Amino acid sequence: MDLSLNHFSRDYRAARNGLVAAAGEAAGWSHQAHRHPLPGLDGEPIFVDTFWRGPAEASRVLVITAGTHGVEGFCGSALQSQFVADAPSLPDDTAVLMIHAVNPYGYSHIRRVNEDNVDINRNFVDFGDGPPENTAYSDVEPLLNPAELPDGRIKAIMDDLMKLNETMGFLQFFKAVSGGQYEFSRGVQFGGSEPAWSRRTVETIWNTMLAKAGIIVQFDVHTGLGPNAVGTLMMAADPEEPHHALAQEWFGDMMVTPRPKTREETILGGYLNGGLERTMSEAWVIPMTLEYGTEPPEAVLAAMIEENWLVHHGDIESPRGQAIKARLREVFLPADDEWRRAILARGRQVFSDALTKLATLERRLDKPQ
Ligand SMILES: [Zn+2]
Repeated sequence: MDLSLNHFSRDYRAARNGLVAAAGEAAGWSHQAHRHPLPGLDGEPIFVDTFWRGPAEASRVLVITAGTHGVEGFCGSALQSQFVADAPSLPDDTAVLMIHAVNPYGYSHIRRVNEDNVDINRNFVDFGDGPPENTAYSDVEPLLNPAELPDGRIKAIMDDLMKLNETMGFLQFFKAVSGGQYEFSRGVQFGGSEPAWSRRTVETIWNTMLAKAGIIVQFDVHTGLGPNAVGTLMMAADPEEPHHALAQEWFGDMMVTPRPKTREETILGGYLNGGLERTMSEAWVIPMTLEYGTEPPEAVLAAMIEENWLVHHGDIESPRGQAIKARLREVFLPADDEWRRAILARGRQVFSDALTKLATLERRLDKPQ
């Protein structure tokens, strides 16, 4: 039997309890809990937990964040659990911060979004300027957020969406469906109307725990996008930014998207990683997303549409409701053992490479201009 698969937990509570216990038994971890105002699925208390290892004043910090998209947290949790078990030695002047369950409500309740249907990874925008506009979204909203969803209707919806994908062109379609929208509070990829509890909580954590950090290498772990079982590294950076070349030198081919120059150019807004860069503007932040592919994008989107319908218009306790929930979980956490082994192996390699490479930045603690 392969015990490494035990890093994957059956639910939020088991994942959280396992991580707290493992970090408590291992050497050097300090733990803090930030309690969410609402209970979890079974009435259990839910938290954003932080786990810190290494000198409190370390100039270099590796940050591993899990569960920004609630249900996607199973995978990030597993990588954090493995990291504790591996106990990699830390270079001098280097610490690790793991943030478990940025969106604990979504994790516990098997939702990608939070208690207010807000996508936390679209919530890190400046609401003072008025929310960003995504005019293309309203065209697809009736398909993404139908009031009625009789059995079999999802197939017709997906056919219509795939036709729109062709007529709109992939980028416009992607922006419409995934870019984040701030108008339809029951729609998908709703970015909210103010900073959510999860955002405010992680900003407090960053401000207090990373105040001494000069260089921050960040991984926000996600699932549901890209080739099956592949852990793709992604980042936003312009070609002249030092971490553009650096990250590719460290990790090889990555998906690097240039920073948008105008609101119209913004395909995806409100990312947590962007929030980290803005919050820790005195530090040199190297922000990456580690995104593991599961199923084809149509399958993942169909599961999200069904679950969104269920929460707003259906009966979660019904057999169909339970099947929709199980399906959502499956598209973000495949049951396949081979998939899970691949995820663990890639995560171990990425984090260990990141620690080794962080040590090479010793002479470059001043943020490059
Ligand atoms: Zn995600």
